Amino acid sequence: MKITFASSYGFCLGVKRALTLVMNLDPKKEKIYLLSPIVHNSKVMDHLKNQGFLTLDDSLTIEEKLSSLHSCKVVFSAHGHDKKLELICQKNDLEIIDTTCPRVKANENSLKKDIKEGQDVIYIGIKNHPETVSALSLDPKIIFIDYHNPSFDFKVNKDACSVHNQTTLIRSTLENIYLELKKKYKHVKLVNDICFATEQNQNALDEVTIEDLIVVIGDKLSSNTKRLYELAKQKYPLKMVILAEDIQDFKNINLNEFSNAFITAGASSPKEQIDEIVSYLKNFNN
Ligand code: SF4
Repeated sequence: MKITFASSYGFCLGVKRALTLVMNLDPKKEKIYLLSPIVHNSKVMDHLKNQGFLTLDDSLTIEEKLSSLHSCKVVFSAHGHDKKLELICQKNDLEIIDTTCPRVKANENSLKKDIKEGQDVIYIGIKNHPETVSALSLDPKIIFIDYHNPSFDFKVNKDACSVHNQTTLIRSTLENIYLELKKKYKHVKLVNDICFATEQNQNALDEVTIEDLIVVIGDKLSSNTKRLYELAKQKYPLKMVILAEDIQDFKNINLNEFSNAFITAGASSPKEQIDEIVSYLKNFNN
């Protein structure tokens, strides 16, 4: 199979930075707990666990995990975290390794500035996603709009109101939400916090031409990977689009029917995961 790569795909700077921060620690010398996936990719997490990083029972909340720990290092994920968790860390003498992406932090700072100036703030995000949880924890007055199920049944009392959002959304869907918002509240200031990496990876989908198979490589828990997959399906409804974590995801597809594959990958997908899938695809239609 002939393979064409998107001009932009895979690890973004925020993910690389988070992994560098963690890999600079030595889990063989001290206990270091990963409280949640530092980036949404199970292969990355498996690698870190093999290096000696510790995790706790997945059925526990991060709050419960922290409450059970004392005097060790804990790693907060690249997505950001609920700010109340920092108080538990203080109380339990836990040293925080905060891998929050600088882009997420910049969005949160801008959101805090708007609140401080007395503006109402609306946040558009995916319900319960850690980045959304982190942003909403900044102030209980933030008005939340669920990206997947937007509702505009709220009141914005002040003249000044800004609209922020999660970094990994699809721009066209976000713009549809903006349209609805503007119909109801003409004065709102739209910020658009989609990050550069998400935007670039999504724009690179426009490079698809003759390819009959589009493969989006990444973890099914990763927001930016899922949005990339959804966007590819929206843009190319007549082509086969697959979200693949590994080669098992092709088991129900006759790959001999395809001759040209377009490859892209989410911002948390490591090179090894991409290489494994690409090598596999190359075996077909040689
Ligand atoms: S996808 Fe964007 S916001 Fe998320 S870690 Fe990468 S650069 Fe940061």
